[in-house]
This record gives sequence, structure tokens and C-alpha cells, in this order.
Amino acid sequence: MGLKNILIISEDKTDQLVLSSSLQRAVPSRFNVTIATSLERPLDALMDRNNDAVILAHAPETDYLLRLAQKNDVTVPIIVLLAEASAATVSRVKGLGARDFLLRSNIQDDLLHRILDYSIELGNAKQKIQSLSNRDALTGVLNRTGFRAHVERAIARSERYQTNTALIYINIDQFTNINDQYGEGAGDQAIKMIARRLSNKKRNTDSVARLGGDEFAVVLEDVSAETNVDMVSEKMMMSITEPMRLNEQQVSIEVSVGASVCPDNGVRFEDLVEAARNAMTQAKAVPGNKYFRFNDQLTFNSGGSTSLSAELRQAVRNDQFELYYQPRINLKTEKVVGLEALLRWNHPERGMIRPDEFLPLCENMGLMKTVGHRVIEKACSAINWLDTQGLADVDVAVNVSFSQFQDERFTDIVKDIVGESGIDPRRLEFELTESVVLKSPDEVTHRMEELRRMGHSFSLDDFGTGFSQLSHMTDLPISALKIDKSFVKDIPTNRHQEAVCMMIIDMAQRLDLLVIAEGAEEQEQVDFLKGVNCHQVQGFYYSPAIPLTQIPRFAEEQLFKESLFSHTVD
Ligand code: C2E
Ligand code: CA
Ligand code: CA
Repeated sequence: MGLKNILIISEDKTDQLVLSSSLQRAVPSRFNVTIATSLERPLDALMDRNNDAVILAHAPETDYLLRLAQKNDVTVPIIVLLAEASAATVSRVKGLGARDFLLRSNIQDDLLHRILDYSIELGNAKQKIQSLSNRDALTGVLNRTGFRAHVERAIARSERYQTNTALIYINIDQFTNINDQYGEGAGDQAIKMIARRLSNKKRNTDSVARLGGDEFAVVLEDVSAETNVDMVSEKMMMSITEPMRLNEQQVSIEVSVGASVCPDNGVRFEDLVEAARNAMTQAKAVPGNKYFRFNDQLTFNSGGSTSLSAELRQAVRNDQFELYYQPRINLKTEKVVGLEALLRWNHPERGMIRPDEFLPLCENMGLMKTVGHRVIEKACSAINWLDTQGLADVDVAVNVSFSQFQDERFTDIVKDIVGESGIDPRRLEFELTESVVLKSPDEVTHRMEELRRMGHSFSLDDFGTGFSQLSHMTDLPISALKIDKSFVKDIPTNRHQEAVCMMIIDMAQRLDLLVIAEGAEEQEQVDFLKGVNCHQVQGFYYSPAIPLTQIPRFAEEQLFKESLFSHTVD
């Protein structure tokens, strides 16, 4: 193992001595210490790539230094040395991006070494994953991470030079139809074509991103007037909806497009995306290609008379929602150990509709809480039913969105539902995404703690896609990470995805967390995941989400396969 360079910044001789002698005592020897009393060029020192970690003694300029580091995307972990651990100081320095803190009165060798090892480890993982995953593997345009980074830079420039930045949000209507009708290969081809067409229309300072299966976004820097945004959006819409050839056939797609403008509609990444997405959802309610720019009235209108929102209201009233359950398999035993409850809208005419198509609208219309409570009720009944089928060791996980989790009555509601159903709370898990946590870290962590005390556990969903503030993770009461399916999809041909999976698994093991890989569709992917000691897999290779009544039979088949397997090995 190479030596790690630790920079100690303190004017205090005792600090310097205590820390450096403790670091010299590390076994195996692994720290190389540099001491600075004051920083003449603080930013240069913090940006110096030779440093693996910085220990910064708390002083009047500490807040300033941390802010400076945060502003300049300094990646080296900074650990603050405090005289006393008052809750206010600790939360302030952490809020300013410090990775961790040490107490002057309590510097013990193994604690200090562990904090450093750990911070360096997290820092490296964060950097590596960031560098590996700025681009979408299929199209080469930015992915969510890269998109966020560009938007944040553009917002900063907008503020500095008083210009406008616009976001265009594009969703392809009924993309699943293309997959179903022409095959997934053709679906991929269509996605690539759209990325290419958007890229051809953009200027040098703009960028194109793919945000999800059938969603794209464009960042427009320095747009002069809002009408300009409308013009560019319409132009892009026209270009991508021109007929394309797929499998020797002319195919036309339809899209819904929304746009938002910084600073008018917000000056934070989340707000701008939400505004553009809101506008897109509005556009979706109108048939055909449609573009809307965000304005405040839109959110009111969504309660209105458009047919989809009217149907959705009706659906909630008549409870046309069902839960399907996707099995989670333990890779060592091949047994079903859990189920993820996934929502389906059983539409009287249109058949089963997937959540991505209606949940955003549910959120916009304020229906998410009602729907979410029913999901929990149904999941609890499912647990009771599983017991009667001899499947008392199968847990059930439900997804929770921010609007549900932010409701201060959430804990009480869960308590009521769980109490009434009589299930063992340990069998009901919740899945949260990093973005839910980041929207309001303190409130969310507090609520998670409450629910954990009641016996529930948490998984961090879609892990690897947000990745802005990995350091929060260590504070969260989670027991599992779910590797997002975008990192599993192209294994074994994509080395980068393999590297990301291995790193997440490795890190989870150090943090004592369970790892569940999502989206494994092929035998090779499952073999790879087994090889790198991933604990559980959830993916079409084993099963898509199916009705609850089909689960006992599936579980039995898995047992049967396992027994066959163990016999052939013996
Ligand atoms: P998610 O939590 O990431 O759920 C996993 C999604 O990946 C599911 O899509 C599942 O069908 C799909 N999937 C699983 N294995 C594979 C695979 O091998 N290949 C591919 N291509 N896909 C796979 P689904 O059911 O359409 O759900 C989409 C999203 O909707 C979920 O993503 C979740 O964020 C949200 N959602 C679903 N049910 C609920 C719910 O009850 N409440 C809330 N708040 N959100 C929900
Ligand atoms: Ca999930
Ligand atoms: Ca997921």
C-alpha cells in the first residue's frame, strides 16, 4: 500500500506533535505527514492533488476555508480538529462539507487512523465513480451526474454575468410501444438517433443529457430572452420528431417538452429541474407533440380537466392500483429472500400502466400520499398472506417518495397501518433514493431513525446515480444499497460498469451494508455479480414483478433449482 499524504493545518505546536506522532505510529506504516501553520495560498494547498486528506484545526477562518473548498469542488477530504464537540459546531462544519471531525481531547491512534482510512476511501470512491459515470453508456451524451454538474456550473455563471440559463426537459411519449413493436434493439437505435439529433441542434456551450430510459434534457447557456427558449425548444422538438427508419420501417415518435429558466423559475438545480419537469408533465396531458414553458399557474392547472388527470383522480377514487412483486434472490442460496412491491395502474381500457408513466402526475396533483398509504397497507396484507403460504422469511420492500416521507405524520401513519395488520415491523422495508435524502437531510434522517426504532429497515435505492454527497451516507441508518440498473445493464461488455459495481460492493462491505444489484437480465451478469460477492440480485433474469399469488410457486421453483444445483456440485 502506498503512503498517504496527510496535510495538517494548525498553528498549535501540541496539535502538530500529537497528530504527527500518532500518524507515525500507524501499523502498517501508511501516512506521510506535512505540516502547515498558516495558509498563504489556501486554495492551492487544498486543491493540491498530492494530498490524500487534510486535518484542519478549528480557527476563526475555518468556515471561510470550508466554503472556499466547497465552492471550488475540492475533492480532498477535510477533517476538522475541534476543541469541543458542540452539536452546533459539528453540524455547521459538516454542512460546509467537512468529511468528519476529531476532538482535541480525544485523539487516539486507532480512531484517528480509522477516520483517515475511511475518509480517503470514500473520497477515492466518490472521485472514481464520478469520473466513470459522467456519460451515458448508450448515447455518449451526459448522464444525470454530468448533467447536474453542467447545470450547476451554468447557474453559477448566470449569477455572475446576469444571464439566463434554460433547461429543456424532453420525454418520449409511449416509448414502451416502440420497444414492444420493433424490439429493444430498435428502441436503443431510436434513443441514439434522438441524442444525435439533439446534439446537432445545440450550440457549443449547450449540452445534451439523457436522464432516464426515455428522457432527455438540454442545458442552454446565456439565452437572451424567453422567447428564444421557446424557439430553441420548438426547433429541437421538430428535429427529433422527424420520421426515422427503424427495422426498415418509417417510424414517427411523439414527445412532450417542458422548459424552465434560471433565475426566473429558480436558482437551484433541483428547482429548475422540477419546474421544467412540471411543464413537461403538463405537455404530456395534451395529445401529440407539445411544448410548455414553466409558469406558476401550471401547477394549479394540473388539477384541471385534462383527460389523464381526470382519469387518475378517478383511479385513486376507485382504487385501480395494484402491487406487483419482484423477487430478490440471495446469490449464495438462490432462495427468495425479499420482494419489492411495485405499483401498477390497472387501467380499464389501456391495461397495466407502469409507474413511471403516472407517478410524476400523481405527485403533481397531490395524490401521492393517498396512493402511498394504500401501497403500505397492501404490502402489509401481502406479508400476512405470505405467512399463510409458508413464506414467513420473505421480507417486503416498498418505495417511498419525498412528498410521502416529508409528511410529518408519516411515522404515525406507518405505525397505525403496521399495528392494525399485526405484522412484524422488521419484515417491512422502505426504499429511498439519495435525492429524497438530500432534499432535506436532517428531517429525513430523523424520520428514518424513528422508523428504525420501530423495527423497519431502509435501502438506498438507485445507488450511484445521484452521488453528489456520498459523505451523508455514513450518517444514515440504512442497511442496504441497491446498485442502480444502469450499472448492471451492459455487463460483461462494459468494463466501466463492472468497475463501478465492484467498487460499490467493496465499499458496502467495508461499511457493513448489504448490496442488492438491480436489473440483471443475463446469466453472465448474474455470474459476474456472484463472482464479486454481491449479496442479492433483483432482475428480469430471475423474474419481473409478478402478482403476489404467483410468488409461492416461484419460490418453490427456486428451491427446486437450488436442490438440483447442490446435488450436481456434491
Ligand atoms: P425502482 O425502485 O428503481 O424499481 C425498479 C424498476 O426496475 C421497476 O420498474 C422494475 O420493473 C425494473 N426492473 C427490475 N428488474 C429489471 C431488469 O432486469 N431490467 C429492466 N430493464 N428493468 C428492471 P417499475 O416497476 O416500472 O418501477 C419504476 C419506478 O417507479 C420504481 O423504480 C420506483 O421508483 C417507482 N415506484 C414503483 N412503485 C412505487 C410506489 O409504490 N411508490 C413510489 N413512491 N414509487 C414507486
Ligand atoms: Ca426501488
Ligand atoms: Ca432502483
